[in-house]
Amino acid sequence: MLTVLGRNSERIGRDNLSAVLREVHRHGAVSRSGLAERTGLYRQTIRSLVGQLAERGLVDEDGAPTAGARGRPSLVVRPRTDTVRVLALDVEVDSLGAAVVSLGGTVLRSVRVARPRDVAAPAATIDALADAAAAVLRAGPTDGQRVVGIGVAVVGVVRRDDGLVRLAPNLGWTDVPLAALVATRLGLDVPVVVGNEADLGGMAEHLRGAAAGARHVLYVSGEVGIGGGLIVDGRPLDGHRGYAGEIGHLAVNPDGRRCGCGATGCWETEVGEAALVRRAGIADEGAGESAVGRVLEAADAGDARAIQAIADVGRWTGIGLASLVNVLNPEVIVLGGLLARLHPRIAEVVDDQLRRRATTALLEGLTVRPARFGADAPLLGAAELALEPVLADPGSLPVIPLAVATVAPAASRTA
Ligand SMILES: [Zn+2]
Repeated sequence: MLTVLGRNSERIGRDNLSAVLREVHRHGAVSRSGLAERTGLYRQTIRSLVGQLAERGLVDEDGAPTAGARGRPSLVVRPRTDTVRVLALDVEVDSLGAAVVSLGGTVLRSVRVARPRDVAAPAATIDALADAAAAVLRAGPTDGQRVVGIGVAVVGVVRRDDGLVRLAPNLGWTDVPLAALVATRLGLDVPVVVGNEADLGGMAEHLRGAAAGARHVLYVSGEVGIGGGLIVDGRPLDGHRGYAGEIGHLAVNPDGRRCGCGATGCWETEVGEAALVRRAGIADEGAGESAVGRVLEAADAGDARAIQAIADVGRWTGIGLASLVNVLNPEVIVLGGLLARLHPRIAEVVDDQLRRRATTALLEGLTVRPARFGADAPLLGAAELALEPVLADPGSLPVIPLAVATVAPAASRTA
């Protein structure tokens, strides 16, 4: 009996420590009293937990008064950005991203490099990813700075357990062991976790972006393909094998075009980059982001075909969204990537299709917004994936010597 009680209190202590770190990580600077309110824990418990996090270099605190506070200022707890770090990587069809990210979601360094589509082979991709990683890691990390994990976002169907990319039609990949390849190539001797870019983009937008605070979220990222990140009752919807959210392959047009997945008339054949460029008649299909830019320029210059192409993509976007709204009853729809770029131009036609096709009751309280983090949403989500072990069990990190724990350089503090 005593053993069970001991184990339970150990677990409760770990969960409380995790809950406090998650709050600070998510919201940035927060007062001790704010932490007590948000977690429902007693103030003296908060003091002890904050002390444990500070000993591990995860947070620091000062007496700066909170805005509008009266009387005795409550100590403000902040995530430290100079200790725990992760490397985030992002594999898109037209670009690769890399970033070093710390607690609080603070991006310390990041790069995004364009790449030609003819170098999508896994080996060439890993080489280019390693170059991007070297660019962000070169300036650091130095003493006391710890890269504790690597998170990778990829435009494909990913087996989360071992980071195997089962299928990435727009990269031409089948069963590519991405986590293992990245681990071997970078040789950092830290865990490598891989997730689908839309799942991770949705996670980032839900945590701190356009869907912060919402419980039911549909994130739709558009590039060459269309990916979906679903948050149901505050949690990501994974599905039986973790592959849920392949909304780009929703069948919308049985008489449509052949899709990279092998089926015909998938949603992404009507709203992806290729569909936009094809309809505008401006460049060859699959010409990438620059071709999208040319469509937008042509539309701005009054080109009727380009304007119509954008309107058609908007119409098909609304058609797909209406079905998803009927299934999921989301509170917020976040449009990412290409769809975020198009949002100001297609918002009206999307709304019109939603009104025509979604059940009225399911449109009540629904908002459609562009992504806050744009193309970097998946990269930020990949960082969250890599930080997860620290957030889940901060007590597992070693207590760092007092000299290091207290001498936090002023420049590293976030304002
Ligand atoms: Zn498809």
